Amino acid sequence: MHPAPYPTTGSQPATIPRPAPALHLLHGIWVASCPSCGFQLATARTQQRCERRSARRVCPVCHQDGQ
Ligand SMILES: [Zn+2]
Repeated sequence: MHPAPYPTTGSQPATIPRPAPALHLLHGIWVASCPSCGFQLATARTQQRCERRSARRVCPVCHQDGQ
């Protein structure tokens, strides 16, 4: 392992590694779905908006025990 350039004991929260939602363009609507189970996380008219919305959501199917 490479040495960390700075102490990691700071107050900055570690980002949880999460697979990016799968985006599909269906009939002019972007749909973001869970890459693991296919649960629909968000829909939007634009890809960017769909990405943002889905990024804030956690799949309730894959994360039933947490928030
Ligand atoms: Zn899922």
